[in-house]
Amino acid sequence: MELTHLGIAVIMDECNEITLSPMDLRFPDGIWRYAYIMWAAWIADQQEMDRICCETSQKCKQCVAPKNRLHEPHTVFARRKAQDVERAVRDAAFNGRLPGQAPGQAAGPPLFTLGTDPKSKRPRWLPTLACTTKRYEDARTALGGVHLIENGLWRTRHYDYLMQVCPLFDSGLLWVCTTSVQLTATPSAAQAFKDPMHGNEHGNSMLCLKCTVRAVRDHEVAIGLRPDTLVKRMKDRLLGLCDSPFVQHITLLTLGNQKILEGWDTLNKEMKTKKKERSQPIVDANDVSKLMLALIFVLEGLGQPEREAYNRRQARPRDRVSDPFRPIIGALNSYLHAYHMYRAEALRVPEIERLDTMSRNALENLQRVFPYGVRYRNGTFRSWFCTEKPHSMTHWADNLT
Ligand SMILES: [Zn+2]
Repeated sequence: MELTHLGIAVIMDECNEITLSPMDLRFPDGIWRYAYIMWAAWIADQQEMDRICCETSQKCKQCVAPKNRLHEPHTVFARRKAQDVERAVRDAAFNGRLPGQAPGQAAGPPLFTLGTDPKSKRPRWLPTLACTTKRYEDARTALGGVHLIENGLWRTRHYDYLMQVCPLFDSGLLWVCTTSVQLTATPSAAQAFKDPMHGNEHGNSMLCLKCTVRAVRDHEVAIGLRPDTLVKRMKDRLLGLCDSPFVQHITLLTLGNQKILEGWDTLNKEMKTKKKERSQPIVDANDVSKLMLALIFVLEGLGQPEREAYNRRQARPRDRVSDPFRPIIGALNSYLHAYHMYRAEALRVPEIERLDTMSRNALENLQRVFPYGVRYRNGTFRSWFCTEKPHSMTHWADNLT
């Protein structure tokens, strides 16, 4: 990571020179304009973005939401700025002062000093003797997971790698999973873009699928069925939508890769053994989102005869079990509805405002019907939705304004 940033720093130094003063540039419309050249965007997938920001995938690139509050649907956290991150990282590295430290509290020893790289003769942060693994990791935790590394992009003029608003993105065309760097000759505010589609289509949809499998398994227990009865039926229903389980084609949906069906089995196996499967098949993000659409039909009326039979056997009304899939279908619908709106072209301001409510409501609905998570030894509960991907739903509207 440090090497990447040392490299970026070299490129940025040269770039800064050409962005220093305006110059005559010929635009695509043929007209010469006196304009500044500046960085416009950095389009990247998750891992590249993590590397660019020197942090983990569970750190929101847009706001300061702490790791344990990523699931909150209606909280609006402050936007992140590269300047603030730089100040905090430098303070921790050279002054031993961590964010959140009380003003009177003594600072720790500096973890880095400014030195010169013996080979390149460029400035470089050198660890001090006080920089033990433990101290480093403690400092990194206090910084919310950001590494104590000089980010090569801090020095870039007119550019903030954490500003990820994307007003340019009207067409679906640009929402591709790619890593590219653009230079632009327009003096608009500089922005960095994280590819948001992959996160939504793969990350969030996979989570919904996982939650659905869990809900079906829980329902089997609730109405006293043998394990896997309904999970198997759910898969059979899905295959019922296929021409054949062996061809990569589905009547309602054309899947790019049949592996998604294996993914379904893997999810079920994980729930059974409570162990993370080693070989999660790599599934196509488009297939996962198509499966999300099919899910609604697959879940409708699932296990109804058994549920009715079970309820007939219960003398007390309070022992009867209601259909859990209706509310789940409702929540999935609210997610798909908001997502569809997000992908729509050229939304107007009132529509974007509505989208903000829709996406946050969808996140809330999903958590209501899927109340699953992990209970830690100290008693705290962490929802499966308390991760960066579902959290990104709260930024859908920001990404369009
Ligand atoms: Zn955020």
